Amino acid sequence: MISTDILVIGAGVTGTAVARELSRYCADVRVAEMGCDVAEGATKANSGIVHAGYDAVPGTLKARYNVRGAEMYPELCRELGVPYRRAGALVIGFDEADRKTLGELMQRGITNGVKGLRMLDRSEALALEPSLNPAVTCALDVPTSGIVSPYEMAFALADDAALNGVHFDFDAKVCRLSRAEDGLWHVLSDREEYVCRAIVNCAGSFGAELHNMICDEKLQMIHRRGQYYLLDRANPQPFSRTIFQCPSVMGKGVLVSPTVHGNLLLGPTAEDIDDPLDTATTADGLANILEKATRTWPKLSTRTNITNFSGIRAHLPGDDFIVGPVAGAAGAFEAIGIESPGLSSAPALAEDLVRKIAEAMHLQKKKEVVPCPHRPKPFNEMSDGEREAAVREDPMNGTVICRCEVVTEAEIRRAIRRPVGARTVDGVKRRTRAGMGRCQGGFCMPRVAAIIAEETGCSLAEVTKNGGASRLLSGTVANYLKEGE
Ligand SMILES: Cc1cc2nc3c(=O)[nH]c(=O)nc-3n(C[C@H](O)[C@H](O)[C@H](O)COP(=O)(O)OP(=O)(O)OC[C@H]3O[C@@H](n4cnc5c(N)ncnc54)[C@H](O)[C@@H]3O)c2cc1C
Repeated sequence: MISTDILVIGAGVTGTAVARELSRYCADVRVAEMGCDVAEGATKANSGIVHAGYDAVPGTLKARYNVRGAEMYPELCRELGVPYRRAGALVIGFDEADRKTLGELMQRGITNGVKGLRMLDRSEALALEPSLNPAVTCALDVPTSGIVSPYEMAFALADDAALNGVHFDFDAKVCRLSRAEDGLWHVLSDREEYVCRAIVNCAGSFGAELHNMICDEKLQMIHRRGQYYLLDRANPQPFSRTIFQCPSVMGKGVLVSPTVHGNLLLGPTAEDIDDPLDTATTADGLANILEKATRTWPKLSTRTNITNFSGIRAHLPGDDFIVGPVAGAAGAFEAIGIESPGLSSAPALAEDLVRKIAEAMHLQKKKEVVPCPHRPKPFNEMSDGEREAAVREDPMNGTVICRCEVVTEAEIRRAIRRPVGARTVDGVKRRTRAGMGRCQGGFCMPRVAAIIAEETGCSLAEVTKNGGASRLLSGTVANYLKEGE
């Protein structure tokens, strides 16, 4: 049984942002995560856009947190060493109905406090983004829209929280919550049992399930899947900004967007599904993306498609986030229904929720905070001179493990040694980009697995792709031959 002051459930971008904010207070904080790593839910599979905030309905939590979160992103990413670029966005229209929608979006944005919005005519839009469909008639220019690596954001938030005392438990699926007569929460997970003064439900797609265990006002979550195409890196990409089409009730529609690492993303779809873990991609879904994205980019070609993936939105029928204390459950707090713009909102949501938790629990701020360590420039972004210096400083920088993305052995070892370090091949991939390139790990996966085994002291047969039963090796050839005798 583990005793702690506060247990955060879920290590997505919401849970890690909340954990980091809580780490600034004098309290013992733990995070229980059912996956084998940080960012195993929606946080690892989304568009990576830091939305400006023109889309959310004024007065909602979505609008408030989105606009404040977007303001916080540039400085926070600088502090944490997370790739972020204020790329800007265009929302494009093709007819009078779209022009009307764009005008409404602009008004909404102005009401929400979004700066710099302006309507463009056809020639202005094409001058900014020449690869756009020439049939475009108007566009809303959104200069404050940004792009970020969503999982790198969560890793950095988790590292910062851990450096400031937060402990992370992985493979710990919370399955029971109960409040004892002494007012303490008893939390049963499939790994540990916790006793704590407060719980914070940041469980993404499973947020309503945990809410319903402790609250009489029941919630029904809708799991809305979004599928994507990811195209290989190219310089230059056809678009420098994120290009949205007009939004609908199902979401912001299909976008075409550069990523912070120079890839191009097409998607997402919006399909309501039963299973919150069903992150399959389907032929119909992918065809749907191509049809819609071609309207934005008529010369679209999938020749450079390197992978497809999907993520699940945690949609609540009320169409807004629910953030704060849980009604009728003293000491329980929640951040649920955190669909888009949840990534953009996370820093502001955490700031607000933790203020409420600190007030309710009478927490004192710590006098000192451990600053985030400087993160070295990635080897693949260095000049030749910088590379030579890096190899002189650490010869392991001279061994390139991932040839597609130019990731060195030194970088992989550093990713494993981070405060919340990688333990799986996918964990290394998301922290370093080894395996993110055109060959998708075909060449580097065995070498990455060998380094993980060496660094963590496990056998190669125990290394997994992504936790659980996803072992890369089922045994040795010698044993296999022996069994056959
Ligand atoms: C297709 C798509 C596109 C999107 N695009 C954008 C975008 O461009 N910009 C933007 O701002 N937002 C976007 N979003 C929304 C954004 O991704 C989410 O709002 C955000 O990632 C939610 O983070 P979270 O931490 O709340 O949830 P998650 O990332 O899902 O994390 C929840 C965590 O809780 C864990 N968990 C669940 N149940 C339990 C349990 N019982 N015990 C222990 N752990 C548990 C899960 O394993 C998971 O790691 C998009 C979402 C999707 C799906």
